[in-house]
Amino acid sequence: MKKEGWQFASHSWGHINMTTASVDDIKKDTALWQKEVQPIVGKTPVLIFPFGADIGSFTNYTNDNAKYTYLKSSGFSIFDNVDASKTSWGQLTNNYYRNARINVDGIRLHETMTGENTVLNDFFNTKGFLSS
Ligand SMILES: [Zn+2]
Repeated sequence: MKKEGWQFASHSWGHINMTTASVDDIKKDTALWQKEVQPIVGKTPVLIFPFGADIGSFTNYTNDNAKYTYLKSSGFSIFDNVDASKTSWGQLTNNYYRNARINVDGIRLHETMTGENTVLNDFFNTKGFLSS
């Protein structure tokens, strides 16, 4: 896949929840990713948070955030959480880019079908996905 031009992001080594994980847990996980996964997929600045679990609130990351400073020092500068409350969200600073992705899964499709959440309607017609 790399030969065909694919680029890979990190989704962590152990799919840990980075909101609840300690800085030490994140350091251990990242060390394993760098040792076991990075040699295969290559270096990447992109970290896709498992569960979309972000390391901070919607406000800018600052150097007071030890998780951010560690991940930044480990080479990550693009961070992706999950937020299905709107069709798009991004935060560009001189130090990093952070954006939100929308989980397109059974829960989101169900919420779209029931009208509980309509964010996917701007992308495609979910009625074609499910029967009954
Ligand atoms: Zn995942």
